[in-house]
Amino acid sequence: MLWVKDGDSVGPQVVFALAVALGVPACLAMLWRARSEQGVWPSVVLLAGGALWSAAGLAMTMTPDVELERQIYAWSAPVFGVAAAAIVWQALTMTGRRPGRSPWLVAALALEPAVMVVVAAVPALTARLARVGTGPDGVTHLVNGPLVYVHTAVAGGMAVLGGALLVAGRSRVVTGHQGRFAVAALAMGAPTAAALAGVALVRDPVLVVAAASAGYVATIAILGSRLVRSRDLGVPLGVHQVLGALGDAVLVTDASGIVAQANPAARAMLGRWSPDGPEGKHWSAVLTPELAEALRRSGTVTAPDGTVLDVRTTEIRTGRSTVATVAVARDVTELELLRTQLAEQALRDDLTGLHNRRHLDQVLGERDLLGGSTTLTAAMVDIDRFKSVNDRHGHAVGDQVIIAVAGVLSRDLRADDVLVRFGGEEFLALLPGAAVDDVRDRAEEWRRACSALTVVSERGPVAVTVSIGLAQAEPGDDADDLLRRADAALYAAKRAGRDQVVGPVTGGGAA
Ligand code: GH3
Ligand code: MG
Ligand code: MG
Repeated sequence: MLWVKDGDSVGPQVVFALAVALGVPACLAMLWRARSEQGVWPSVVLLAGGALWSAAGLAMTMTPDVELERQIYAWSAPVFGVAAAAIVWQALTMTGRRPGRSPWLVAALALEPAVMVVVAAVPALTARLARVGTGPDGVTHLVNGPLVYVHTAVAGGMAVLGGALLVAGRSRVVTGHQGRFAVAALAMGAPTAAALAGVALVRDPVLVVAAASAGYVATIAILGSRLVRSRDLGVPLGVHQVLGALGDAVLVTDASGIVAQANPAARAMLGRWSPDGPEGKHWSAVLTPELAEALRRSGTVTAPDGTVLDVRTTEIRTGRSTVATVAVARDVTELELLRTQLAEQALRDDLTGLHNRRHLDQVLGERDLLGGSTTLTAAMVDIDRFKSVNDRHGHAVGDQVIIAVAGVLSRDLRADDVLVRFGGEEFLALLPGAAVDDVRDRAEEWRRACSALTVVSERGPVAVTVSIGLAQAEPGDDADDLLRRADAALYAAKRAGRDQVVGPVTGGGAA
């Protein structure tokens, strides 16, 4: 049974009792959560403060001693300042700051509650916080003094500042966590908002305390539902944390070209040639000319240390003006190496390791072999009666023969020579700059070396010979003309009995 004093209604007592009954378990549950989750302590402090504040309110309504009631009122006042400090603390923590690291900030936040402790302890000051008055009905009750308004303004101001920081911090976190700021602002602001309204609207201190307690019940409801659903508590994930976790370097420059932000990967990357950090400097001062150029046009660039970077640049525009440029650089050194290897592989023949026909096309496309001032000879080499080698000795032995012939042809290649496996048992050599006699000698040497090859299978030795057709490029030739003539020379060699060199062929037929 609650004891209601003369002139008091039972309403505030119900609010206080409810606030204490709900607040204590909510505070303990939050305390439990604080063991495993970061950024929950301000909520613990707020819930504990609210329970204490409501218990004080309950005691105030129950004591018949108005002087005791005044003392309880005075000693509960610091709780408001502590709650306001908790809001600021929460806002700072949620926006990724570490308020505990700054002793000045801690002192500033503790100042208001500390002053209120002094007010409660010094009777002359307590008298200015609340005095005992006598109503027209002769009943004594508490009347708010001027210090209540100063205290409310300072602590309330801190709470509002905390709320503003929470609102401002919203944009600094990932979108999925932005709701946490609304939850925190609502939950933590409710008692303060109610207390401020109470001070503004009613003169009875008990009703002011009751208003704050009613707000506190709202706090418990909001935080309690979050506790039950295990969601939206703790420090939200900041956008800077996401940037920090990226392996790609992110460099943000503002409209004037000054580096506004470099994520850790960018600092590490640029740190190699700009050790004192890129922020605040013009981008051209922190990048090598090559990198600066890559930044301008997006693309692949090789950094001074050999790292290959893939740079993508995106402009951030509002309206028609560019407000910032975001450059993302990724280390693609290994990928680039792999790409080069794959590209090289695509131009090689698996069996012999020689270049393939695709490489020949590429060379003919890139190098102006036909239009050059030097002579160009094509040698078409074909293994004789290779079908019967396969038939007699098997495909595997046939492969060995192809490899052996490829080995002969690739001996003594000159820097400008191009040798490819042209087809199954056909090879093509492009020999630029060689005199006719020289080419004939080389071809004759190839033919001799091939016929001297010793490939032995289970069915005995394999006879290997090749026929070679030579053709020389003429003015106005294209690649097809040259190859067609080399092929014609080869055909002539075959017809003439194989194992011989024919050509160079000029004009229309075999020489
Ligand atoms: P010729 O003297 O007129 O050139 O007679 P040939 O038998 O060499 O001519 P043909 O072009 O009729 O036969 C070529 C054969 O080469 C047909 C094909 O089965 C074989 N061949 C093509 N590629 C390979 C290969 O990679 N390995 C093996 N073992 N045989 C191949
Ligand atoms: Mg053939
Ligand atoms: Mg053949």
